[in-house]
Amino acid sequence: MTERETIEMDVVFVGAGPANLAAALHLKNKIREHDDLVDRGRKHARKIGDLEIAIVEKGSFVGAHILSGAVMDPIAIRELMPDFVAQGCPVDTVVTDDAFWYLTEKGSINAPIMPRPVKNKGKYIVSLSEVREWLGGKCEEAGINIFPEFPAAEVLYGENDAVIGVRTGDKGIDKEGNRKPNFEPGVDLIAKITVLGEGSRGSLAKQVMARLGLDERKEPQVFSLGVKELWEVPEGNFTEGMAVHTLGFPSDTRTYGGGWIYGLKNNAISVGYVTGLDYEDPLIDPHAEFQKFKAHPKIAAILKDGKMIKYGAKTINTGGYHTMPKLFANGVLLVGDCASMLNGQRIKGIHTAMKSGMLAAETIVGAFEHEDFTSNTLRHYAEKVNLSWIYDELHPVRNFHAAFQKGRWSALINTGLQFLTRGLAWGFMPKEHHVAGHERMEMLNGSAQGVRTDNGLGPNDHLRSERYRDLRFDKELTFDKVTDVFYGAVAHDEDQPSHLHVLDTEICATRCAEEYGNPCQRFCPAAVYEMEENAATGRRELKINFSNCVHCKTCDIADPYQIINWVTPEGGGGPNYKGM
Ligand SMILES: Cc1cc2nc3c(=O)[nH]c(=O)nc-3n(C[C@H](O)[C@H](O)[C@H](O)COP(=O)(O)OP(=O)(O)OC[C@H]3O[C@@H](n4cnc5c(N)ncnc54)[C@H](O)[C@@H]3O)c2cc1C
Repeated sequence: MTERETIEMDVVFVGAGPANLAAALHLKNKIREHDDLVDRGRKHARKIGDLEIAIVEKGSFVGAHILSGAVMDPIAIRELMPDFVAQGCPVDTVVTDDAFWYLTEKGSINAPIMPRPVKNKGKYIVSLSEVREWLGGKCEEAGINIFPEFPAAEVLYGENDAVIGVRTGDKGIDKEGNRKPNFEPGVDLIAKITVLGEGSRGSLAKQVMARLGLDERKEPQVFSLGVKELWEVPEGNFTEGMAVHTLGFPSDTRTYGGGWIYGLKNNAISVGYVTGLDYEDPLIDPHAEFQKFKAHPKIAAILKDGKMIKYGAKTINTGGYHTMPKLFANGVLLVGDCASMLNGQRIKGIHTAMKSGMLAAETIVGAFEHEDFTSNTLRHYAEKVNLSWIYDELHPVRNFHAAFQKGRWSALINTGLQFLTRGLAWGFMPKEHHVAGHERMEMLNGSAQGVRTDNGLGPNDHLRSERYRDLRFDKELTFDKVTDVFYGAVAHDEDQPSHLHVLDTEICATRCAEEYGNPCQRFCPAAVYEMEENAATGRRELKINFSNCVHCKTCDIADPYQIINWVTPEGGGGPNYKGM
């Protein structure tokens, strides 16, 4: 039995993303306002006083694991801190021009009128990692404790399944599971309220939702994977402040996907491609889709003679309002992406994440005022969300993503109709609305677009299929996964147990090889999964290069058998997205 330190806190926030950083800062401000009103006799309530607030973050610093486009809608940060620019928030590029391109295989059509969801003039192009570091600094100035390198590994429950805090991960365990000389047990952070702001497919949120049934009677969540590079290009290739969104190539009409190019200062460019993780073709490789996107003549011209400087990949929960779980239970609140707050039509979630955090903070003030940390008080959070502009923004686009599960053309007609009717679903929708992505993947049925599958598929065999026939990794414009991962500055101590738990590897070597050709090798954007031939048995078996993992969570989401469980590795491991 491991002896652990127990630390009593008032509120613990899991994850230092925009949702929780905004929540913690707003909480401090709101408590001060509340206590001030009580002191001045303007409010007849009990004072709350100084609360012990902690934010735990698995990355090596605040912002290490954050990857975003990112065009930030400033609506929420302006509410949090009206003078955020004067206070030094790193938002130095304003969107001055927008474009929307429909890409065909070699050409493009420039939309004469900008569709409203991708109109971004006046918003900010930011490095979300930098904005977070800055916001983290503001939290610390306000007296909030931030603990980087502290993954929350487990949820702690009390009576009646009330959440009473989290257990952080142990440090110093070797790959066989033995204690190393530097072993340090994780600590139990006991809190009156725990706020989960872990981002897309949070590993604790997943546990809590399953145990407390928070996603019952909700549509299944659907996700996309964003793959991104940061480039430096010669002056004149692309204008600072320009934001381009694309539809079409390289996605086929049955697959949800789209790209972006944003012009940052100093001739830097954010270029990326999003592929819906509800695709049907098991040969799809989102990283290869992105490389194809860059090779399109229109995009290649922008990147010409430039240099790739950073790489990253992360999932996005695109299901929207209908997939939002119940947002509270005794002792716990869910905020930001892990509560499905993202607007899938705009692919924007920074502002809604921050706003949800702020509404959670206001609910927490009420809970401390009444000293009631049960659902009786915490349910006000869900009411606040539904009375806020989050609802006004998400409800009219509630059917946006589901329509794409019927193909691009139906979806576009449907999007137009939804726009006119504030979101009503039409006949172009799939009957079931959202279907979980892993259920939509089709089997290979013995053929794979010209690739032999009789001995299963290896990690790169799909690159010989028709879909990727013209794709070459020239290491100038296009890169293979291993090279890209190097640019993600990913590091994990290799002498630790793998944090990617495959519950039954026999399925990988048998059924999955035959039925889907082991799609983990393709959907993972970091070359973590490889089917390697075992000389003794002659069959391909699974090898997991967990140290490449960029924490995108794609494997946990897209595996057709749902046997991959992503858990937190030792603190500090993972990508380093500084500046992304
Ligand atoms: C490729 C891409 C492009 C995007 N483009 C845009 C855009 O242009 N505009 C826009 O508004 N939005 C964009 N988004 C969405 C936006 O990034 C998210 O909506 C937003 O970051 C959500 O904030 P969050 O705080 O909920 O979660 P996150 O930003 O994901 O932060 C969660 C944090 O929690 C930490 N964490 C997770 N689990 C644990 C744990 N168990 N213990 C400790 N720490 C943990 C993570 O390391 C991370 O730091 C994009 C997203 C992606 C992936």
